[in-house]
Amino acid sequence: MKTPRKSKKILAVIFVLLFIFVAACSVSHFTNDAYRSESQFKEYVYEYFSEFDSHRVKQIAVEEELIEYDRPLSIAFRYPNTGMEGPDEHINNIVNTAKEDFYSIYADADRKTKIVRFMAYDAYQPKKEAISIVIHQEDELHDGDEVDVQNKKIYTYNYSTETGEALEGINFFKGGFRAYFSQYLTKYFQENHGDELLDGYQNYLTASVNNFKDFVVTDGGVKFYFQPGTVMAPEKGIVSVEVGYQDLNDIMREKVDLDAIDPEKPMVALTYDDGPYPVSSNRILDCLEKYGQVATFFELGRNAAAYPDVVKRKAQLGMEIGNHTYSHKDLHKLTPEEVAAEINTSKAAIESAGGKTVTVFRPPYGNTSAVVETTAAMPVILWSVDTLDWKSRDANSVFNEVKKIHDKGSLNGRVILMHSIYDSTAQATEMIVPWLLQNGYQLVTVSELIQYSYGEAPQPKLYGYGYFYK
Ligand code: ZN
Repeated sequence: MKTPRKSKKILAVIFVLLFIFVAACSVSHFTNDAYRSESQFKEYVYEYFSEFDSHRVKQIAVEEELIEYDRPLSIAFRYPNTGMEGPDEHINNIVNTAKEDFYSIYADADRKTKIVRFMAYDAYQPKKEAISIVIHQEDELHDGDEVDVQNKKIYTYNYSTETGEALEGINFFKGGFRAYFSQYLTKYFQENHGDELLDGYQNYLTASVNNFKDFVVTDGGVKFYFQPGTVMAPEKGIVSVEVGYQDLNDIMREKVDLDAIDPEKPMVALTYDDGPYPVSSNRILDCLEKYGQVATFFELGRNAAAYPDVVKRKAQLGMEIGNHTYSHKDLHKLTPEEVAAEINTSKAAIESAGGKTVTVFRPPYGNTSAVVETTAAMPVILWSVDTLDWKSRDANSVFNEVKKIHDKGSLNGRVILMHSIYDSTAQATEMIVPWLLQNGYQLVTVSELIQYSYGEAPQPKLYGYGYFYK
């Protein structure tokens, strides 16, 4: 059937009108009319999110959304809910801080403008035992036809799928990885972006412990991020560089090592004497377990015999178990035979309770002697930070004894003395552990401290008051 000429003309006009309409609609997404109502805002936001969804490698089972529409300020956050306590606490922290920060920096924004803070994420799982997340944040400032993007920022986070612990460079890479990436990335930037580099860009590429913290492990290799204005000018935005697996053969571990100790990072050994005692010792263990950290416990033989379950739990959690004599007598007042009895009976009692070999010894009151050291026949460990927890019985005071040394310099290489028999000390532990981690310290056992911080294999000798200082 033939279409009459007149109908063809009408059809053509309809097409042109339709084209103009569609064009107008799509343009409106990028101009003044990006969104005018809450429903249009949501549409606009989901379009933004869909770009991240379309290339996301690993799908996290549950996603959270935080969408708040208002004039002039709106937020649109999409972020993962991992179902693990550690990562979720960390991610929620990022989200809440970003929200508060947004409403505070734009508190005086003109009501005629429209400002939206976006947050979206990518996730990777290149190895069974780890997930990498990168959260992107940016602000769109809509002013008439103009859309200005500001405050671009990224947050990277890697965690263990087994324990939920946060993973750092040393868990993925072998010791000396910072020097390797320093050399690799300096060469990369000089060859590829020679004339775009900012003065002082090298500061972000040295082998310092402050560098190479922003990374995710992808399917292609390791992707490092540099915040705007670090290696290149702020208008270049976030700079990322992926180092491919072919260039990681010598430096990447076969498997994520959860217990790896970073010899280049500051470290501290928490030590607890006089236990085990069920209530307070378990509360201390709950805290260490929550953060995936370790400490050294100098146990009394008589308490280990009374509460073997607590010693077993310590052993299972990878704590170092030390001997603190059977009944806490002053060894200076005993004959060599009595000293031997106090030390050896205790060692046997602690090992039979916990099923783990005792590796270090600490004499009550720090009262050591040549006889004590020969009899103990293992490292005799004193301390370099006395919290006086037995005296104050106050969590804040214990915390402050630790904090004040950091404030004056550093706790690196220190052995901190506490007692596992006080609730106040358990409470102090709940303050000290997260605080140490936030301040960049690793928690290690006493034997690890001697090995990694002082570069010495632990010997059967005295590690006295003067030893644990850097
Ligand atoms: Zn003691």
